[in-house]
Amino acid sequence: MLNFSFHNPTKIHFGEDQIHFVANEIPADAKVLVVYGGGSIKSNGVYEQVVNALTDHTWFEFSGIEPNPSYQTLMKAQELIQKNDIDYLLAVGGGSVVDGAKFIAAAALYEGDDPWDILAKQIPVKSALPIGAILTLPATGSESNGNSVVTRDGNKLPFSSSLVKPQFAILDPKVTLSLSDRQISNGVVDAFVHVMEQYLTYNVNGKVQDRFAEGLLQTLIEEGPKALNPDTKEHLDIRANIMWSATMALNGLIGAGVPQDWSTHMIGHELTGGFGIDHARTLSIILPAVMKVKRHEKHEKLVQFAERVWHLTDDNDEAKIDKAIALTEDFFTRMNVPTRLSDVDITEEKIDGIIEKLAQHGMVELGEHQDITLEVSREILTLAL
Ligand code: NAP
Ligand code: FE
Repeated sequence: MLNFSFHNPTKIHFGEDQIHFVANEIPADAKVLVVYGGGSIKSNGVYEQVVNALTDHTWFEFSGIEPNPSYQTLMKAQELIQKNDIDYLLAVGGGSVVDGAKFIAAAALYEGDDPWDILAKQIPVKSALPIGAILTLPATGSESNGNSVVTRDGNKLPFSSSLVKPQFAILDPKVTLSLSDRQISNGVVDAFVHVMEQYLTYNVNGKVQDRFAEGLLQTLIEEGPKALNPDTKEHLDIRANIMWSATMALNGLIGAGVPQDWSTHMIGHELTGGFGIDHARTLSIILPAVMKVKRHEKHEKLVQFAERVWHLTDDNDEAKIDKAIALTEDFFTRMNVPTRLSDVDITEEKIDGIIEKLAQHGMVELGEHQDITLEVSREILTLAL
C-alpha cells in the first residue's frame, strides 16, 4: 500500500427527512447564500424544506447554476456576496450546484486578478467561504470531496482544494425520487467510473481499498438497473444504497493509498466541453476503450475485477478480461448510456480537435503511469468510435 494522509471533514446526515439539520449545522449568526440550479428543488419540495429550516437564519439566494456550471454564471454570485457580506454557502442540488458553490466560495476570497486562474493556472486556493450541501442527485461525490469542475467557453477544467470540502452534507434518498431516468443513469454510471478510476490500475496490495471498491461496484451493478425498473424504482432502500455508494465512491476513502487513473474523466471533459455530452455519458464511452487500450498494463487488476466483481472463474486470464469488459459495456447499456462515440454522433474527423483541446489543457500525461500521451488518447478515442 502507498503512504497516505486521509482527512474527510464532511459531517453526513443521511436518511429521510433530515434537511432540518441545516439549522443546527450553519452558525446562527451566519449570512447564508443558498445556491441552486434550474428549479428542480422548487418542484420537488426541497426548497420549501430549506426555507423552513432556515427560518431563524439571515439568508439570500442565487439560482440558475446550470449542469456543467459555467464560469460566467458563477461569477454573477460575487456581487451578491460582497453586497450582503455573505459568509456561508449552502449548495442545494446535484454535482453541478455543489461544484459551482466551491468555485463561488474560492472566488469570493481570491486575491489575484481573475479566479479562473484557479483552474487555468492551477493557482492553489488560499481561503474560501465555508460550504454546506444538500444533495439531490447521487453521482459525483462532490458533497464530501474537495473537487470542482467549471466550464468557460467550452473549456471544462477541474480544481481541487481541501478548503472547499463541504463542512456537512445532507443526503436524503427520498429527494432523489423526482430524478428523471436519464439523471438516475448518469449518477450510477458516474459513481461506477469514479470507483473504477481508483481501482483499475496496478496492484499495491491495498486489500482494504480493493474490497471496498469491489463492494461499491457490485452494489451499483445490482441496484442501478433496479432504480430504472418501474416495479422497483420507488424503493427507498435502492435509492439509499445508490446514494451512499456514490458518496463513498469519491470521498477519498477508497483512493487513499492506491494509484489512480483519471484519464477517462479528463478525456470525457473534452467531450462535454466541446460537444455538450452529459458527463456520465462521456465516461461510459471512454472507460471501455481505456480498459482495452491499457489491458496489458492493467492486466492483474482486470483479472481481479473479472473474478471478484463479475465472478468469472473458469476461463484463462485473457478470456476473463474480454468477458469483464463486455459485461461492463453491457451494464452501461442496461443503464441506457452510450458506449461509443457514434452513439452521440461524434465522428472520426472530430478526433483531431479533441486532441488539440487535451494538449491545450495540459492533459498530456494521463493515467497511473502518466503514459497516456496524446497519441494514446488518440488510440482510445479511435477505439471508442
Ligand atoms: P447536475 O448537472 O448537478 O444535474 C443534472 C440535472 O439534474 C439538472 O438539470 C438538475 O436540475 C437535475 N436534478 C438534480 N437533482 C434533481 C432532483 N432531485 N430531481 C429532479 N431533477 C434534479 O448533475 P450531476 O451529475 O450531479 O453533476 C454533474 C457535474 O458534476 C458535471 O459538471 C461533472 O463534471 C461534475 N463532477 C464533479 C465531480 C466532483 O468530484 N466534484 C465528480 C464527477 C463529476 P436543477 O438544475 O433544476 O437542479
Ligand atoms: Fe465524475
